Parts: sequence; C-alpha cells; structure tokens
Amino acid sequence: MIRATSFNGKTVAVFGLGGSGIASARSLLAGGATVAAWDDGEASRSAAAREGVPLVDLAKADWSQFSALVLAPGVPLTHPEPHWTVRMAQDSGVEIIGDIEIFARERAAHAPDAPFIGITGTNGKSTTTALIAHILRHAGRDVQLGGNIGRAVLTLDDPAPERFHVIELSSFQIDLTPTLKPTVGVMLNVTPDHLDRHGTIENYAAVKERLVDGAEVAAVGLDDEFGLAMLQRRVQKAPAIAFSAEKSIAPGYSLLDDTIICSNREALAVKLASLGGIATLRGRHNAQNALAAVAAVRECLNWIGQSSELDWQGALSSFPGLPHRMEEIGRIGNVLFVNDSKATNADSTEKALLSFPRDVFWIVGGKPKAGGISALEKYFGGVAKAYLIGESSEDFAQTLDGKVTFERSGTLDTAIAAAARDAKASAGAEPVVLLSPACASYDQFRNFEVRGDAFRKLVEALPGVAMRGAK
Ligand code: ADP
Repeated sequence: MIRATSFNGKTVAVFGLGGSGIASARSLLAGGATVAAWDDGEASRSAAAREGVPLVDLAKADWSQFSALVLAPGVPLTHPEPHWTVRMAQDSGVEIIGDIEIFARERAAHAPDAPFIGITGTNGKSTTTALIAHILRHAGRDVQLGGNIGRAVLTLDDPAPERFHVIELSSFQIDLTPTLKPTVGVMLNVTPDHLDRHGTIENYAAVKERLVDGAEVAAVGLDDEFGLAMLQRRVQKAPAIAFSAEKSIAPGYSLLDDTIICSNREALAVKLASLGGIATLRGRHNAQNALAAVAAVRECLNWIGQSSELDWQGALSSFPGLPHRMEEIGRIGNVLFVNDSKATNADSTEKALLSFPRDVFWIVGGKPKAGGISALEKYFGGVAKAYLIGESSEDFAQTLDGKVTFERSGTLDTAIAAAARDAKASAGAEPVVLLSPACASYDQFRNFEVRGDAFRKLVEALPGVAMRGAK
C-alpha cells in the first residue's frame, strides 16, 4: 500500500466508498491523516466500516476542518451536475482530488524520478496498459499495474527508481489529478464517449489533453483530429512522439505492412516487431494499441537513460491478451471460439467483425444500445449465420432479415450449441464462433465479465474442445 504521507496530521473527507475509495481512506489513515468517509449507499458504508474506515455523515460535517475532498472517479464532478459533496467542498474552498493525485504527490515527494507511464484514450486503454506492463515484465523490470484497470493505485507498491508504475487513467481520474506528471503520458484516441459526464467532446478532449500536457514525454495517437491537434500544441513546448496505425509518420511510430517501425526526422526507420500472426493483437485497433505500447516503453527507457534494445518481438508475441476482448478461448478441430463479451456496442463489435472477415458464426444480442446493429451491415457478408440472444432479438431479427441467415436462440447455451454444430459442419478453413454481442449484458447477466465467463464455461463443456488463451 502507498501511504498518503502528504496528508499527515490533516483531516480529509473521502466520498465514494468502492474499491478505490476504501483504498484512499486506508492510505490516508496509514499516512497519519484523520479520515471522514461517506457514501450515499448504506451497503458501501457498511462494507467500508468493516474495513475499519471511519464514517462521518459529510452532509452534516463542518467542512472548514477538511484539507481536501478525495472523490471516487465515478462521482460527478461537473456533469450532469456536481455531486452535493462537490458543492459543499467548493463552498468551503476545499480542494477536490482523486486517488491518483495522492499517488502523484507521494511520487513527487519520495521518488520523483520513479518511472510512471499513464495511459488514456477513449478505447484501448486496458489493452495498451496491460501490454505495456507485459513488455516491461518480459524485459525483467519490476512493474506495478493499476488505476482504472485491476488494482486501485494506492494499493500498489511505493514508487521507486527501479520500479515502473503503469497506470490506466480514465478522463474522470485525470479530472481529479491536478499535478499529473507522468514520465510518459500516452494518449491513444478521442471519440465521443462519456459526454454525459464531460458536457461536450471539446471538454472531454481537453480533460484528456491534461495528461499530454503534464507528461515529461507525450506519446500521442495521430489517428483522429483531436490527437493531431494535441500533438501540434505539444511539440512546440516539450518532448512528444507520435504514433499512427493509419499512415507512416516521421518522426514517430507507424506500420510498414504489419511491422512496427520507428522513424526519425530523416525518415530513417528501425524495424521493431511484426504483428503478423499474433492472435492477441489482431486488427487495426490492436495495431494502434501495440504501437502506443512500444512507443511508451521505448520512450520511457530512453528518457530515464536505460537501453531500449529489447526483444520486442518476443514481448509482443507472448502477450496473453485481456479476457473478454476478442479472446481466443479454444478450438474444436479448425473451429475457433472467440469471447468478445466486452463488445457492448456496435462500435466494438465492428472491430471484431473487421478482424474476422469470413465464416463467422455470430452470437449477438442482449440489452440493445441506440442504433442496434444497423451500422454493422457492411460486414454482414462475412457472417455465415447469426444466433440471437436476449432482449434485442426481435429488433436485430428485423435488421438481419433478408441479409444474414439467423436463428432466435434466446439464451447463450442454446446459441453456443447451435453455432458450434453449424461451424463444425461448414466448409470454411477456420470458422469462428464469435460472441460479440454489441449489447449490454444486463438483461441476462450481471455484467460483461459474467457473460464472457458463462461463454467460456459453455465452450469448455463442448465435446472435443481444446482450451487456450488468457484467464
Ligand atoms: P478501454 O479500457 O479503453 O475500454 P479495452 O482495451 O478494454 O479499452 O478495449 C475495449 C474494446 O474497445 C475492445 O474490445 C475493442 O472492441 C475496442 N478497442 C480496443 N482498442 C481500440 C482502439 N485502439 N481503437 C478503437 N477501439 C478499440
């Protein structure tokens, strides 16, 4: 655990007692602060109390005693409207921060040169964060991984000169981190998302840009207009490096066919690794993630004066991938089973259909999002048959009617049995049974993880299956 020594002797309000809120409270207590923690939900309060977190009803508290309000990232800071604790803090002139800010202050105070890579973007954050950590571990480095993925940042080990903190950052977390100064700040992409929390896309992009602004070295994805504008602003002020999965750039990281290259200003390139045949990094979107990861690690090592001559190919080829994201979980003969349960909207499913362009036995449906799957029509040619599950079945049946053969399976177990049977009987070289629902899971499952785990279990039970892939 990282102790919040920067608040020693002070009194701090903590609001939002999920995993990161409880970790913040414990870190503050261990650092010598007095904590007043609260949550709107009774269940969260009880869970926190069981962990020894002192509860104080912040609605009735005297806010003049607080040095800071530590807010959980899910609690609205500005949109749709500030949470009541935010208003109370503002009225009393109490600063509002998040757990990443505590981490940033501890690093600044005790190990300012400790390598810290922060990753943000609309899509691909978790994959890129996991891949950066994997590359560094493959190279024998001591790595701490957390933030918006896995463990809350304050439950990790202390920053230290030989230890790399690889931290995924949502825009909500960046918003709560005024002194964010990573060694490398990775900005993957910006597309409309979470506008309910940030108001406008410009606002959302501006929050993300703070990571680029604060970093010693900024690594910026150039495949959207926001990235391009951020890079242009940044290069005039401080070190920055660009990456693109769509065009060749110099200086920067880009693709030559499927090989990651790094070019200097004179367009002289070094080849680093080929993505060809790496099942966990299929598709253009993963090429962007891989470029970002290679750029981040290489620039970080260069910046801290360590050799960046790594076994890039070995590192990328051995990446196990993340569960539920186009995860190859097993085979029966030549039939591949892919769990893409994380695809909760058509945009994400598009990535899967692009990556598996033919002989797809597609399990789709759940709680539908606006627009359904109509945006995917251009990929229907690669779908051998669709198996409809969940609430969206009738809606999707209408979209598919006359374009793709489909059946109404209703539930996942029925869909898998039918898809496996049909895929085995098909003539394709590598038929794919793909769960990529393009829908939320809540009509039939607690969340996308539970849905993906159910898929895995059902596949595991099929006769003759050979399982593989990440946990
Ligand atoms: P995040 O942590 O940002 O939600 P993940 O790495 O968990 O991102 O990927 C979630 C989904 O987003 C993937 O299943 C894929 O469909 C899509 N995706 C991943 N990387 C990218 C990218 N670089 N660009 C666009 N979409 C992506």
